[in-house]
Amino acid sequence: MSLGIVRDWLPVTAELSLPLLTATGARPGPVFAVTAGVHGDEYEGVRAIFEVFETIDTAALAGTVIAVPVVNPPAHWAVQRTSPVDGANLARVFPGNPDGTLSEQIAAVLAREVIGRADFYLDLHSGGVRYAMPSMAGYASFDGRGRAAAEAFGAPVIWGHPVIEPGRTISSARDRGIPFLYVEAWGAGRIAPADLAMMRRGVFNLLRHLDMLPGEPEIPAPPRRLSGVGNTDDGLAAGVDGFLLLEVALLDRVAAGQRLGRLVDLLGNTLETYSAPRAGTIALTHEMPIVRKGDTLFLLADEE
Ligand SMILES: [Zn+2]
Repeated sequence: MSLGIVRDWLPVTAELSLPLLTATGARPGPVFAVTAGVHGDEYEGVRAIFEVFETIDTAALAGTVIAVPVVNPPAHWAVQRTSPVDGANLARVFPGNPDGTLSEQIAAVLAREVIGRADFYLDLHSGGVRYAMPSMAGYASFDGRGRAAAEAFGAPVIWGHPVIEPGRTISSARDRGIPFLYVEAWGAGRIAPADLAMMRRGVFNLLRHLDMLPGEPEIPAPPRRLSGVGNTDDGLAAGVDGFLLLEVALLDRVAAGQRLGRLVDLLGNTLETYSAPRAGTIALTHEMPIVRKGDTLFLLADEE
């Protein structure tokens, strides 16, 4: 085990603790916090954090990297986006409540002990089991520090949001004045090697960007730049249960009124058809064909 690496547990309740990894650099500097597994069916960031902690050179590091590789252990072990304990989407309950439900207690501890300690905060997500998302870094377009970090991360797509909705890890960072990024990846319940490489490289790129490690960020190619709100709760949703036939792919540019897909029953009869409410770029698809009423099926972004 390399010098300066500590693997410990951060207590939430008597029964639940969060895994907490700390890499202390040989020189003083900022605190960089990174988390994954806010949603229990997202794995790319979990593995990326493990790999970062296996390879980081603490002798060259200025400052401290703190990481929680699995923020939501109950959802992680249940292989589901939301908590099996209280049904909550952890990304809607921040800044949490120390006297609330288990998800609210997790949020309160994370906000206080991890995000609140950070000079920069990174939250790693993906499409999970049901959705597909572009491999991307998302930032608040009203904060120049976020845009600069998104460019330095080195993702194939960056997405600037004029609004950060409440309840997120990143909204609790914003409320504390802490610069942040979030990252998405393909998902589908697997770890795509390119997404793992993007996240691992991206963490080291941010540490270079923040002058915590020597050298310049490695940017493989200029990114595609998206804009718009990007709230997955506001996408085109299913009105009934059904089997989804997608007619578009992630990052396709679509015209207003263009057909995006349809939902069928078990005879193949069409239940609902979906078309683009406006021109835009497909920024989320419900990749899992089994759809429940209310599920978000498509989300549109704008090209910058
Ligand atoms: Zn997520």
